[in-house]
Amino acid sequence: MHRRNRHTGRYDFPALISAQPELGPHVAPNAYGDLSIDFANPAAVKELNRALLRLWYGLGYWNIPEGYLCPAIPGRADYVHHAADLLAEENGGEPPTGAGVRAVDIGTGANCVYPIVGHGEYGWSFVGTDVDTVALDSARLIAVCNPQLCEPLSFRPQKTREHILRGVIGDDERFDILFCNPPFHASAEEAADGSRRKWRNLGVGGARRKAPVLNFGGSATELWCPGGETAFVSRLATESREFAGNVRRFTALVSKSENLPAILAAVRRAGPKDCRVVEMAQGAKRSRFVTWSFGS
Ligand code: SAH
Repeated sequence: MHRRNRHTGRYDFPALISAQPELGPHVAPNAYGDLSIDFANPAAVKELNRALLRLWYGLGYWNIPEGYLCPAIPGRADYVHHAADLLAEENGGEPPTGAGVRAVDIGTGANCVYPIVGHGEYGWSFVGTDVDTVALDSARLIAVCNPQLCEPLSFRPQKTREHILRGVIGDDERFDILFCNPPFHASAEEAADGSRRKWRNLGVGGARRKAPVLNFGGSATELWCPGGETAFVSRLATESREFAGNVRRFTALVSKSENLPAILAAVRRAGPKDCRVVEMAQGAKRSRFVTWSFGS
């Protein structure tokens, strides 16, 4: 984990339960005698997220509609901190803070996780975009129900699914950084398989309990787009050229390392001044994002 990530080590369940008493009934000692929750139970995971977001970022309200992606906060926070390091490189080594730092979050989702964490950690302001109006309404509700988020967070619908930046970034606008956690599966079937695999890995598969298809950790539109993350991030790279003067630094998560060569080739074709991969690790889980800038 990044050194500034507050979510290192075990979850502090007693502190989390005192912040969010509704979490209490979901917490019990696991097979090793450590306090834990049933990570296969969406209701328990949602309460854990509420508790984390209340304890660390002061959120009085957070919710997602049923079936939408329930993010693992520690991993999402890692992306934000590593991105802050990129901005620090041009700021005397210190991550810049305050609402004057403008970020855009492509596909902010119903959970609005990057604006919440980016504002909570660094005070940045965010524009979140999404093609899914249910997701965007949920993100808006989170912002209006938390006074500290009302002003710095705003949302824009991407009305054309094939577009990413066109139609949401104005000609004269400037952003310091762009975040994107793309829909990563190539088809609904692949997304369903991914859900089943995740379910199995949690040790709750088998004959007795059936994985809820496409209903565990993400809705259909959130999890897939034609061509998967390779197509999405490549499209973002191609469009980014048009917006070279509007966004200082682009970043996008890449969930599968085998997709990196095709994605990097697409980014290089856009002709940025620099382009690199930032590797991250949360325990045994490796993740990464690609970043590029036209030096504007
Ligand atoms: N940022 C959230 C959600 C990521 S899921 C998180 O990290 O948990 C990917 C999101 O991208 C979904 O909400 C999906 O609706 C959205 N999306 C798909 N195509 C898009 C496009 N062309 N422009 C903006 N968002 C898009």
